[in-house]
Amino acid sequence: MEIFQVEHARKWMKATNERIQEKKQELTELDQAIGDGDHGINMARGFREVMTKLDGETYQHVADVMKDVAMTLMSKVGGAAGPLYGTAFLKLSMAFKGQDVDYPLFTKGMEDAVAGVKQRGKSEVGEKTLVDVWSAVLEKLQENDHFDGSLMLDTAKAAMENTKETMATKGRAAYLKERSIGHLDPGSVSSFYLFESLAGVIRE
Ligand code: ADP
Ligand code: MG
Ligand code: MG
Repeated sequence: MEIFQVEHARKWMKATNERIQEKKQELTELDQAIGDGDHGINMARGFREVMTKLDGETYQHVADVMKDVAMTLMSKVGGAAGPLYGTAFLKLSMAFKGQDVDYPLFTKGMEDAVAGVKQRGKSEVGEKTLVDVWSAVLEKLQENDHFDGSLMLDTAKAAMENTKETMATKGRAAYLKERSIGHLDPGSVSSFYLFESLAGVIRE
């Protein structure tokens, strides 16, 4: 892949939605262990609405797709994850606005997205949140100079798995302190499915 196009963005969201619907129960169970048990429900509702929105629209630019994704997730997901995912996609949309999305621009969009999520959540890497997965993917994008689906998949997976060993200091899981150790972070797992889906589109 040289240019990330509207069709790629659509496939990304379609694959993510399928994965989230399949994994709704798993995400719910992860959130039952260290949160309030609604992450699977929140994400499944949000991405179902994203598909409904995108299927009814035509788009000229990737930025316009990202904007509709952002607005839909913000209004439909709820909880902590809604505004965080919404912010990430809104930042992608703003960075991409009116332009063809080549590798450097995609990376720039991810820089803005990660900065936006951190600011919104007042969070940093290592706090056992979805920031861990987004930041790891960003770091590899910055180190590299072309789209690499295998690298993205491996990077997101390792960062997601690493949240099992860490203690939560942000979000509901932070109330559990040491007892959050030994559990995967639900938002990192849903973010893994998002980047796994993107990696699949890149590798096609
Ligand atoms: P809620 O906790 O409001 O029920 P969800 O269950 O949908 O929301 O989402 C929980 C996920 O959101 C967590 O697993 C974590 O990854 C992410 N999260 C929560 N708080 C923050 C924060 N302050 N910064 C970054 N991510 C966060
Ligand atoms: Mg929850
Ligand atoms: Mg909740």
